[in-house]
Amino acid sequence: MTTVGHEDLGAALAEDEFVIPTYNDIGADVPEEIASQRCTYLCGNSLGPLAKRSQFLIQEELCVWATRAVEGHFDHPHGREWMTIADTVTPLLADLVGAKDKEVACMGTLTANLHLMMSAFYKPTPNRYKILCEGKAFPSDQYAFASQALFHGYDPKDAIVELGPREGEFTLRSSDVLDVIVKQGSSIALVIFSGVQYYTGQWFPMKEITEAAKEQGCICGWDLAHAIGNVPLSLHDWDVDFAVWCSYKYLNSGPGGIGGLFVHERWESNRTPQFAGWWGHDPTTRFLMPPDFSPIPGAQGFQQSNPSVLTTVSLLGSLQVFKRVGMMKPLRERSVSLTAHLEVLLRQTGFYVSSHEAAKYSPDDPPRFTIITPVERESRGAQLSLLFLPTESNVMERVLNHLKSAGVIGDERKPDVIRLTPAPLYNTKRDCERAAEVLKRAFEAISKST
Ligand SMILES: *Cc1c(COP(=O)(O)O)cnc(C)c1O
Repeated sequence: MTTVGHEDLGAALAEDEFVIPTYNDIGADVPEEIASQRCTYLCGNSLGPLAKRSQFLIQEELCVWATRAVEGHFDHPHGREWMTIADTVTPLLADLVGAKDKEVACMGTLTANLHLMMSAFYKPTPNRYKILCEGKAFPSDQYAFASQALFHGYDPKDAIVELGPREGEFTLRSSDVLDVIVKQGSSIALVIFSGVQYYTGQWFPMKEITEAAKEQGCICGWDLAHAIGNVPLSLHDWDVDFAVWCSYKYLNSGPGGIGGLFVHERWESNRTPQFAGWWGHDPTTRFLMPPDFSPIPGAQGFQQSNPSVLTTVSLLGSLQVFKRVGMMKPLRERSVSLTAHLEVLLRQTGFYVSSHEAAKYSPDDPPRFTIITPVERESRGAQLSLLFLPTESNVMERVLNHLKSAGVIGDERKPDVIRLTPAPLYNTKRDCERAAEVLKRAFEAISKST
């Protein structure tokens, strides 16, 4: 292992470990001398870049497939028998979410896993049938919650309680979440939030919310799409009932990569899968093909199908990089300082206004932006969400076009938000500096032309 200083870690890893598109690759309009450098990729919250180890492992598996075919399940030249391929990543995933290995399953995809978990844990009764979640949850989650309520014969409008920010604010107050749990807890069957909110970047106080929910006798689940690999998690100790995630965001497993789920060991014997499949069956007898289903106790009993080997080794390649740097503790430290650095630079552009000012912005005010992601480090991960003003003008779109053409890749959330995410595994201070420079230039150009 190469030893590198804290400061240079991202640069070293980006060089050694990741393939990030160059300015040329993405057709950016940049000076000739930097065109062959990697672009300013600040979009790992949406799709992480390709780890070289993933590329290598996928190629190895293709080769094993070509030379061993079906035998690769049981006899693998690199010791990664396909039969047990998920075991190569499970301990690393368990480390990332703060769980025991048996509490974790590497399987399926996020939304499907969410349905599986709700089928086991959302057991509404006439007195306790509500689902408490954040307003503006990721649409797939909203659809899942509503369809689960309908499936049990409830009207989503009544069964789903959505919490939003207060008037003039952009993120939820923790105290408001906790208050609702205390006041309405006896009618709530399930409290389910995202660990880190995809739109605002807010990291919810997961431990406190879980505790409050359980005190009221509710089940508490978490969607970790934007939390896993981004912030430190302790699902077991927090006594979370279940969680689900995808792995193509901060875990860099590639588009459509394999998902995962967590079931607390407390539920090992009394929450068994209702929608069984052969991969959840006891592996010692799985291939005897017995007629009766005998589930693996815990999370892995929920597996249905044999996992995709290519996406699993792709995830493995990236998780090996996490392991190389010492997993979440050093990464989180680096993340906090990178995101703070980006925030300071953005505020210094001269076009930043406070969220307080933003709340009373009028359509005639000049183009500006604010940051709606909470300022406190314990309430955010890597991502910053920039809100462009005046809202519902075309400022966001115009800034985004400038960023894109200069090879600064963030992503838009219509109508007015751009998300910029310095991921500690491969982004650098230089990336933050370039993003802020280009954003400033974009505003200068827009201001001149209006
Ligand atoms: C990314 C994301 C999804 C995507 O769901 P898939 O099933 O992986 O397509 C769902 N929910 C949240 C909160 C997300 O951030």
